[in-house]
Amino acid sequence: MTLPAGVRVFGAPGRYLQGPGALDALGTLAAAHGAAPLVIGDAQVLSLLGNRLVMNLAKAGLTPAFGTLKGEITREAIAELTALGEERESGLVIGVGGGKSLDAAKGVAMRLEVPMFTVPTIASNDSPTSAAVAIYDDSHAMVAVDRMARNPEVVLVDTALIAAAPVAFLRAGIGDALAKKFEAEGCRAGSGVTPFDTRPLHTAGAIAEACYQILRAHAEAGLAACARNEVTDDLEAVVEAAILMSGLGFENGGLSLAHALTRGLMRARGTKDAAHGDQVAWGLLVHLAAEGRSDDEIDDLIHFYRRIELPTCLAALGMPDPGEEDIALIVDWTLTAPHLKNFASPLDRPAIEAAVRRAEALAVQ
Ligand SMILES: [Zn+2]
Repeated sequence: MTLPAGVRVFGAPGRYLQGPGALDALGTLAAAHGAAPLVIGDAQVLSLLGNRLVMNLAKAGLTPAFGTLKGEITREAIAELTALGEERESGLVIGVGGGKSLDAAKGVAMRLEVPMFTVPTIASNDSPTSAAVAIYDDSHAMVAVDRMARNPEVVLVDTALIAAAPVAFLRAGIGDALAKKFEAEGCRAGSGVTPFDTRPLHTAGAIAEACYQILRAHAEAGLAACARNEVTDDLEAVVEAAILMSGLGFENGGLSLAHALTRGLMRARGTKDAAHGDQVAWGLLVHLAAEGRSDDEIDDLIHFYRRIELPTCLAALGMPDPGEEDIALIVDWTLTAPHLKNFASPLDRPAIEAAVRRAEALAVQ
């Protein structure tokens, strides 16, 4: 979409619903989109929730087809699932599960040219509200980020499911969300653009700021509630920040260095299997170091990470004793990320390497 110069965009899902039992609203919401929705999830999620979904959709007169995502979200996997939707003439795709299943469902909805819902069962990243689809190859290297013409029609977040999931997922979602304030600020201060390819509106900055403040205030208690599998006000606040605010914040505010570094971490020794949100949490420390923030400000965030057990250094992400070659490889790939240009000032290789070294030195003190 080419827009006149100076026009700015705010994109968001059509509806966002959050609370314990929200899943039971699925049939009512889906009924407007034909009798045979295509539900996409991984085998584990579908075996856990499949019956409940069938019964809920049946109450609304719907007979779903199920597509199982087996491995990575590759173009082949999306084509296979799309064929299933074509066969059933599905007018709606529903992604249920973690970021991969949601992204696969987005990819299929793009091909079928029908609306889609996301039903995240974990809150590990910002995928549920966004139009972005990360495409991988079989070795888990990201090869492209496609974008749907519209954001998901409905985002349905059942906090009882999120609370029942392992706490590490929510922790990673917090890591992914914390960075949004700083990335959006840098994008706005410089000449950056959002994933809509326009300059940001003020709204995204306000959302990303609120996201950060809510997480600083509620993350500890929210994670403790999740560890007890309990839905509390703190957990609700953290889930809203990690899913809704994090997604709106990045998509309308812009990504930057914290996320660019994940391109390197996805390929580096030991760190490639770390959760996206854990990678972003570390990336944020480097981001702040590259901005020239004070040691005190970075230390403050490091102490917060320690309290909620987010990784503060490469060793904690799975790379013991990082050497010069390791750092050079991370920076090689970081330099390929398009959102690097959203940093407030131009960044080159020596600047990023120095920021990595500074963040590492502060974290291991
Ligand atoms: Zn992210």
